[in-house]
Amino acid sequence: MVDFALRSCGLRGHATFAPDEPELRQRLKADTPAGEAWRCLRCETFVVGPPRDSGPANTAPEIPRGRMLRDRTLMRALAVERAIRAVIVLLLAAGVFKVTGSRERLRHAFEQDLPLLKPLAKQIGFNPQNSKIIHHIAQAFALSSSTLTWIGVGLVAYAVIELIEAVGLWLVRRWGEYFAVIATSVFLPLEMYELTEKLTALRLIALVVNIVAVIWLLWSKRLFGLNGGDTAYREEHHTASLLSVERAGLGESAASATI
Ligand SMILES: [Zn+2]
Repeated sequence: MVDFALRSCGLRGHATFAPDEPELRQRLKADTPAGEAWRCLRCETFVVGPPRDSGPANTAPEIPRGRMLRDRTLMRALAVERAIRAVIVLLLAAGVFKVTGSRERLRHAFEQDLPLLKPLAKQIGFNPQNSKIIHHIAQAFALSSSTLTWIGVGLVAYAVIELIEAVGLWLVRRWGEYFAVIATSVFLPLEMYELTEKLTALRLIALVVNIVAVIWLLWSKRLFGLNGGDTAYREEHHTASLLSVERAGLGESAASATI
């Protein structure tokens, strides 16, 4: 837990904040021989120097700590996986469109050159118009180029979905969590079907990652009312922030002072 927080502070710098409320201010401030120090809202260490931000406590940035921070790291890892997947699928789509294009050229050449063969074919008593083979070739060209185009379009659509998932997960948005769960679930049957076609380690790992991701998101993000739903989700985010903890502590000490 602390490791996550320290690494996060190492990357982004400490999230010190000076609230306007004097009581809260006192709890987050310390005077050291080196000058004033402010408590980081993420890793909770006192950092010497002026605070990064200040203002009323309810304008303080919500800094994820503990499990929230670990969850965010997991979601970002998932986002990176989705982004890589999208890039691979886009490259595949580009390949498919390229093949379609060259097939189109081949078909064109085939149809253009066929009449040129006619005089020669006549001499050897071969009529291309009646040839089953040539008929099949022409049909294959027509069929596969349109099929290939649809496959390309499908791949691009899939890549776009993966990219939206990646953005939503990276920004740790509520809609991103819902989108990821729905989109991932929709493709699970396809992934299972693919496994029955050909069992490879990569496909198996991808399927397991996606099943675990769906279950984890559903439960830990309390989607669709599960595990307490939205109310519990908001409450958890609120109590997880250091300012809320300090404010609750203030309330307690105020209560005990009046007794
Ligand atoms: Zn810190």
